[in-house]
Amino acid sequence: MSMANGYFGKVLWVDLSDESFKDQELSDKIYREFIGGYGLACKLIYENTKAKFDPLGPDAIFGFFPGLLTGTIAPFSGRYMVAGKSPLTGTWGDANSGGFFGPEIKKSGYDSILFKGIAESPKYVTIIGDDKQIHDASDIWGLDVIEAEEKLKVKHGKFIKTAGIGKAGEKVSLISGIVNDKGRIAARSGIGAVMGSKKLKMLVLKGNKALPLANKDKLSELTKYYNSAKKVKAGKLRKMIFKLIPGMPKLLRRLNIPLKAPETMISQIFRMFGTSVSNTISAEIGDSPVKNWGGVGQYDFPPSKSMGISSVKINSYKIREYGCYTCPVQCGGILSVPEIGLEETHLPEYETCCVFGTLLLNNDLMSIFTINEMCNRHGLDTISAGGTVAFAIECFENGILTTKDTGGLELKWGNSEAIIEVIKKMINREGIGDILADGCKKASEIIGKGSERYAMHSAGQEIAMHDPRHFESLAHTYAFDPTPGRHTAPSVDFLEIGPVEKFSPGLKLPDKWKKDINKKYRAQWKVVSFYQVLNSLGLCMFSAMFGEYPLLDIIKSVTGWDISIDEMLKTGFRIQALRQAFTVREGMILAKNELPGRVYGDPPQERGPNKGITVDYKDFNEGVCKELGWNPENGYPLPETLKDLNLEYVIKDLY
Ligand code: SF4
Repeated sequence: MSMANGYFGKVLWVDLSDESFKDQELSDKIYREFIGGYGLACKLIYENTKAKFDPLGPDAIFGFFPGLLTGTIAPFSGRYMVAGKSPLTGTWGDANSGGFFGPEIKKSGYDSILFKGIAESPKYVTIIGDDKQIHDASDIWGLDVIEAEEKLKVKHGKFIKTAGIGKAGEKVSLISGIVNDKGRIAARSGIGAVMGSKKLKMLVLKGNKALPLANKDKLSELTKYYNSAKKVKAGKLRKMIFKLIPGMPKLLRRLNIPLKAPETMISQIFRMFGTSVSNTISAEIGDSPVKNWGGVGQYDFPPSKSMGISSVKINSYKIREYGCYTCPVQCGGILSVPEIGLEETHLPEYETCCVFGTLLLNNDLMSIFTINEMCNRHGLDTISAGGTVAFAIECFENGILTTKDTGGLELKWGNSEAIIEVIKKMINREGIGDILADGCKKASEIIGKGSERYAMHSAGQEIAMHDPRHFESLAHTYAFDPTPGRHTAPSVDFLEIGPVEKFSPGLKLPDKWKKDINKKYRAQWKVVSFYQVLNSLGLCMFSAMFGEYPLLDIIKSVTGWDISIDEMLKTGFRIQALRQAFTVREGMILAKNELPGRVYGDPPQERGPNKGITVDYKDFNEGVCKELGWNPENGYPLPETLKDLNLEYVIKDLY
C-alpha cells in the first residue's frame, strides 16, 4: 500500500447485489494525475464501466468522493462529491456538497466509497470504525433524511454522519440528489435516482482513522495565517453593509455597475447573508431569470415585489450562523420560522430563492422556506424542481394543462399555495407530480401539445439561475460542459463575480481577455482546468472569491508534492477531458446541443438590462474547442490531446 501523505491509497467497493465489500489499492500516480473528488470519480467510473450502460441498471456505478484536502484543517476543504452517469442527461454526472460528511469519509480510512449492483430490498450501509455492514432499511424507507438519521442515531450512536436519499430518490425521481447534514445536498445530475435505483437509502459513517500528513505543523501555520487574514474589522464593515443592502437594487440600476466588490467585503457579505444576498440584486441587473426566462426583472419582478424575498428579510429569521467543516466564512445559516412550524431550517440559497421566487413571480417568503425544507428533506434538486414547476405553470397559463390534469391546482404565476402542493405531488409521484418528477424535458415529452417550448433545459437538465444574457460565457458552459445546465461548471464571465485571478499567483488570465476573443478562449481553458482542480481538492468554489489562498503550499504540506500551477492546470484539464470522454463514449454528442432561445436571447429582449442581447455561444464553442484540443463537430477530445494528458487508453474507446 501507498506510504504517501494526504491520502490512504485505497478505495472501498460495495457490491449491493452480492452484499460484499472489497478494498482496492491505488497507485500514487493516480492521485497525482487525478487528485480526488471529481478526478478520482471519473477515473474509477470510466475504467469500471462499459460504453452505453444503463445509469439505473446493475452495471451502473456511483460513489462518494471527498476532495484530496478534505479531512484536513485546510480552509474551505470540507466538500465531497457524488458521481456516476446522469440518468437525467445521459452524460457524465456529478454534484458536490458541503457540511461535515466529506471529512467523515476520510476518517473511515478510504479515499472514496463506490457502489455497484442493486440490492434485493432497501438497505443502508454502515462503516463504523473497522466494522462494515449492510443492513435492512425497511424501517427507514419512506422517511425523510432527517427522520431516518434520527432513527439511525438511536441504533448506531449520536455521532454518526449520514448521506442519503429521501422519498424523491427512493422513487427514482431523475431530479433527485443526495443529502447530508439535514439539508446540504449534492443535488444536480440526478445521482439521487442512481442511489434510489440501487435501493440504497443511506451511507452511515463513524470513522477513527487519521490521515497521514506530510507536514502537519506547516499546514497549521498556513491555515492560521489565512484565517487570521480573513478576519477583517467586522463591526464597522458589517454595519455599513447592512445599511447598503436594501437600497442596492435601485443603486445598481442607476449606476449600471456590475456585481463586484472587494474580496474582504464579499466574505463579510457572505457570512451575513449567504448566497441569498443576490436575491433582489440579481433580479434587477438581469442575472436572475424571470418568469420562466421570458420576463424582465425590472418590470415583472421589481423591488416592490422582490423585496418580499430579500436577504435582509430572510436574515431576520436567522438564529445562528452555519458553515461547512473548516470554513472561515460560514455562509450558511440556521433559521427559525415558527409561523410555519419550522423550528430549525437551513437558510435557502440564492438558487432556491430565485427558482421558486423570481422565476415563478412568487414573493411569498414563507412558501420558499417551506419548499426549501421539503426539498432538502426529500432530496429534490431545487433548481430542477423549480424549473419544472415554471414549465408546468406556463403550460397551465397557456391552456396546455388544465385543472383536470393538475388535480384541481391553479398553477398560476405566483400562486404559492399551488406551488407548494405541486412540489408535494412531485416528491410523492402523485398525479401530475409523477410526470413532473423526472424534470421538464421528460414531462414535455409526455404532455406533448407543443409544451416543449416552455421547457428550459439543457440536454434534459433544468438550467441554473444565472442568465447568460448577463454572463455571456455561461451559455457555452450550460450547453457544452459534460454536465449541462450548471452554473457551478466553469465559465470565465461568471467567475468575474469574485476576483478568481487573485486566488493564486499563476492563475492570472491573459491580459485584455475581455476585449480579445482569442484571449478569452484561453481564459476559458484556464478556468475550466482550474475549477476541476479546485473541486477535486474538495475546496468550496466560493473560496476563489476571497482573495489569495496559499494553494500550492497547502497542497505541499498535506501531500509533500512540489506541484506547480502549470502541472495543476494540466491535471484539471485531464479531469475535464475524461469527463468529456465519458460523455461522448456514452453517445451523448453535446456539440450539437441547443439551448432554448430564451436562455441566450433569441429573440433578444426588448427592454431591461439584457435588451438586444443574443449570445453567440456556438461560435464561442468553436474557439474554445480549438483551445481545448477537441473536435468542434462532435466534442471528441482529439487523439493528440488525450495522448498529451496520459489518457492513451481512452483513444481506443473513442476512435
Ligand atoms: S463558503 Fe459557505 S458553502 Fe463554502 S465552505 Fe464556507 S459555509 Fe460552506
